[in-house]
Amino acid sequence: MKHRQLLLAIAIGGSLIALSACKKDEPAPAADAKTSAAKSETADQFIARVNEEYREMYPEMTASQWLSNTYINDDTQLLESKYNERFLAQLNSWIEEARKFEGQKMSPQTARAIQLLKLMTSMPAPKDPDKLAELTRIASRMGGMYGAGKYCTGEGDAKKCRDLGQLEDVLRKSRDYDAQLDAWQGWHSVAQPMRADYTRFAELVNEGAKELGYADTGEMWRSGYDMTPAEMSAETDRLWGQVKPLYEQLHCYTRTKLQATYGADKGQVNGMLPAHLTGNMWQQDWGNLWDILQPYKNAPDANISDALQTQYQDDYAKELAKVGPAPNTTQLFEAERAAQLVVSKQMTERAQDFYVSLGMPRLPKSYWEKTQFIKPLDRDVVCHASAWDMNMAGDVRTKMCIKPNEEDFTTIYHELGHVYYYLAYNKQPPLFQNGAHDGFHEAIGDTMVLAMMTPEYQHSIGLIGNEPQSHDALINTQMRMALAKVSFMPFGLMIDRWRWGVFDGSIKPTDYNKAWWDLKAKYQGVAPVTARGEDYFDAGAKYHVPGNTPYTRYFLSHILQFQFYKGLCDASGYKGPLYNCSFYGNKVAGQRYWAMLEKGASQPWQATLKEVTGSDKMDASAVLEYFAPLQDWLKQQNEGQTCGWTPPAENTSAAAATPARKQR
Ligand SMILES: [Zn+2]
Repeated sequence: MKHRQLLLAIAIGGSLIALSACKKDEPAPAADAKTSAAKSETADQFIARVNEEYREMYPEMTASQWLSNTYINDDTQLLESKYNERFLAQLNSWIEEARKFEGQKMSPQTARAIQLLKLMTSMPAPKDPDKLAELTRIASRMGGMYGAGKYCTGEGDAKKCRDLGQLEDVLRKSRDYDAQLDAWQGWHSVAQPMRADYTRFAELVNEGAKELGYADTGEMWRSGYDMTPAEMSAETDRLWGQVKPLYEQLHCYTRTKLQATYGADKGQVNGMLPAHLTGNMWQQDWGNLWDILQPYKNAPDANISDALQTQYQDDYAKELAKVGPAPNTTQLFEAERAAQLVVSKQMTERAQDFYVSLGMPRLPKSYWEKTQFIKPLDRDVVCHASAWDMNMAGDVRTKMCIKPNEEDFTTIYHELGHVYYYLAYNKQPPLFQNGAHDGFHEAIGDTMVLAMMTPEYQHSIGLIGNEPQSHDALINTQMRMALAKVSFMPFGLMIDRWRWGVFDGSIKPTDYNKAWWDLKAKYQGVAPVTARGEDYFDAGAKYHVPGNTPYTRYFLSHILQFQFYKGLCDASGYKGPLYNCSFYGNKVAGQRYWAMLEKGASQPWQATLKEVTGSDKMDASAVLEYFAPLQDWLKQQNEGQTCGWTPPAENTSAAAATPARKQR
């Protein structure tokens, strides 16, 4: 899960119409006239001016953020935090100016733009300049701590330090219980020193949110959905209720297999999955447990990683051939690096091809020159994948540390979804250059992944043969998708349940970690195997917490992408089971998608959703339709098992350590 990573998580909204509403004989004042012009301008003119001032500031801000993400050091952090400070001060002054238009007549687009202006940052800053500076310093420091975080063991010459990528590799590949536990605990130690910073951070952003008229930062985050904060919260509960039965089946099956692998005791904790055994640092994607969870060993498993590895080996052989016989150590190393870059670009070209097949443009030349494809060797960088719009005028980039495996391959499709959204809505005024809501932004590329994981598409690019898909192969494919998508959903929900609690004060700093694990238990049914007291700050071990990116968007995106997928399949004229639909190459589907992207945030998302899906409501029934064969299969596998678990918060007696809720 991987994301447009502006430190501020800038929610850009705005109004094409605000600009066009500006009468031809009353041109928008130039940016340098801003202070004196403010007196007499109308609301429409004000928004037109903000759009221009924002457009002007934007490239410097993104440049400072790009630098601090791709060259982590004190200097770049200073530049970034200073620029953020200036921007947030400017934002506060725009919002202050906007107040004088309250109650005045204005176009609906201007009213919308003013609303979006208030929600432009997920990091509302207090007006007090000292506090504002403190806030941006803390934000940059936490980001730096995360990006440069390492787990070191041993002393002197035996000292060995591993970064997040290396620790994730252990969880991905090792099936040694203790080695995995060490890697998991090691990474979480990186977050311990963030606790004090985060506590102060929460105080400061709450102060900023209150000054904007919100009860707290969580309420502000929930205000960006064209419905009330309370409705938004209830909406997520409703959607989760739709998919929870499917999740519980997947959880039950996974637990059985973990117990078969690690033993009845070690494979579960009070009916929950041990946090270090899901193949993922945050238990948000269980796809790395494929060796344990694959339903049919002898059927095709739609595993792209092997094909990507083969591709890499071919690239490496070609690089070696350039060197000639008997290469020295340096030449071997350089050939390896060159091959890594080549295969990363090939993967990205493949993803681009999917978008182009739908009628979307090729990525600009600058994308290929300025993107970070692989991890540099000479400095710390934030490897967490992200997509960037540097100037609202075509300088788009992605920042990744690509490895030739399926997870990274699908991440590229995801990031390009952001990039194509940017390119499509760049013609909107800056304040409307954003997703219809933030869940839309995250869903664009993932919709492509659903179409990409079909036999028809994979055959068309030579990844698999032309045989008809057997039942066993179908279940294998569905399981791969469920491990990536369904396992994620409760995680997508719980992070902001925690932060909403932190921001509204129902979770006190003294209970940060307890509340974190209570929510992990409640939603995900996962638990640590050792005590995680308040010495720890386990929330900080997840990028989006120190990075302050709201997370409910990812939950919503996991619902929406199935809705989009179904909408585009319908548009393409496809008839058949939903899970087999590939709209690759279908220009009608592509046109419908592009039309949605072009709208940006210029109208309420309900209207935009309706244009693609025919409905103005988010709905998880496409998720259930897609996974129907797997859900039936899981029910059979779990027959006779006691599924479900009892979260510790609801666990009032020792006897409740046994899983509750008997299946059927
Ligand atoms: Zn994303």
